[in-house]
This record gives sequence, structure tokens and C-alpha cells, in this order.
Amino acid sequence: MPIYEYECESCGVVFEARQKFSDAPLESCRECAGKVQKLISRAGFSLKGGGWYEQGYNAAPSCAGNDGGGCGGCPKAANS
Ligand SMILES: [Zn+2]
Repeated sequence: MPIYEYECESCGVVFEARQKFSDAPLESCRECAGKVQKLISRAGFSLKGGGWYEQGYNAAPSCAGNDGGGCGGCPKAANS
């Protein structure tokens, strides 16, 4: 079941909600009942608890070697 992130436009709190695809998006903040906005960028998976590997991602989440960024300790960088 995917986890969606929402940000409150009123108090600024960001929280996660585990919802089915068929569930309607949340509209109100858990803290202040203000209007919330769905955050798209991280929807569908969680960075906590090794979800990357469980969902079939092979690359290390922290590796930035492909775009020339720092990649300390990455096997790809060591081989080049
Ligand atoms: Zn709020």
C-alpha cells in the first residue's frame, strides 16, 4: 500500500498517510484541520525501513555517481 505525503498550507506540518489507490486524497490537516496539499515527489514508496530494496531497486539510494556528484564508498565509483 503506497504512502503519500501531505503538507499543511496552514501550519506547515508534513505527514505521511498510508492509503489505497482507491482512497480519496486527504483534504484536512491532522494537526489543525487546515487545507493540505499532496506531495508528489516521494509518493509511492518510503525511504524508511529499506523499502527501496523491497520494491526492486538495485542501486543504492545515496549514489550520485552517474551525474558527477560525490559518491564516496560507492562500488561504481571505485571501478571507474
Ligand atoms: Zn495544519
